[in-house]
Amino acid sequence: MILKDIKSYVKELKESYKIRIAALGEAPKLAIVQVGNVEASNRYIKNKVKDCEEVGIQAHVYAYPDNITEWELDDELIHLEEFYDGVIVQLPLPSHIRSSIATAAIPAHKDVDGFRTDSCFDPATPKGIMDYLRYCNFNLVGKDVVIIGRSEIVGKPLARLMLAADATVTLCHSKSKLDKHLKNCDLVVAAVGKPHFLDCSEVNAPIIDVGINFDENGKLVGDCYNTDYAKAVTPVPGGVGLLTRCALLDNVVRAKEMRKQ
Ligand code: NAP
Repeated sequence: MILKDIKSYVKELKESYKIRIAALGEAPKLAIVQVGNVEASNRYIKNKVKDCEEVGIQAHVYAYPDNITEWELDDELIHLEEFYDGVIVQLPLPSHIRSSIATAAIPAHKDVDGFRTDSCFDPATPKGIMDYLRYCNFNLVGKDVVIIGRSEIVGKPLARLMLAADATVTLCHSKSKLDKHLKNCDLVVAAVGKPHFLDCSEVNAPIIDVGINFDENGKLVGDCYNTDYAKAVTPVPGGVGLLTRCALLDNVVRAKEMRKQ
């Protein structure tokens, strides 16, 4: 499989969202809810707002202090969702607020982050990866895929989507015998969150690198190293992060399209 250039794919996607929004005749509206002041969250939210502006989605950020109670946040979300096509709550939340409480207040047809089990949308990172593989003409039927990492936001939902696409999925974690599983697979997804984790020269399959890490020099890196020796590997930065951002935009546009139907 050839992993196609992600930057030009993202450009194409954004143009297609602009066309869909023009056809709607009305800008989709996204509420972004932030609790507290986590530096990484500020950066992610800034990017989300920028992406929305670029394609014609109206994004509004609602920032609450980190001493807001679960009950108060719940109330705010229930009130907010009436006015928006999609609502997202930026994670992580302060420890006294359960993320399940926050997402339960957002109805399934507005849960554009895809965090509810009955959400009308797939979570952004797994969706972004699935859409990209389709764009690369990678047919998952009958393929052996190794996913390293079993988190609720990446590994598990991605495994579910890949299974639904008829791949044979091995979901690995910290207790797995990785070498054995990596030997004869057709695709690897690394979602571990450790720099210099996966040696690309040891893997004879294309690799999707989900990791977002900082190395000892403060440089943004993925989970993979020796990338020059990879059969094919998505870059970090400029890889899965961009796919994830696009998948959220797609979900917001679709939420508006569903409302108009
Ligand atoms: P997470 O919740 O910390 O999960 C990490 C997973 O890696 C766990 O399942 C863990 O296994 C597994 N793991 C740890 N050490 C391992 C080892 N030695 N061998 C095999 N598996 C091992 O992480 P996450 O939230 O899924 O995120 C993973 C990475 O993706 C992070 O760098 C994160 O920043 C990045 N990320 C990127 C995007 C994007 O848009 N690009 C989106 C989301 C996340 P156990 O379950 O056994 O502990």
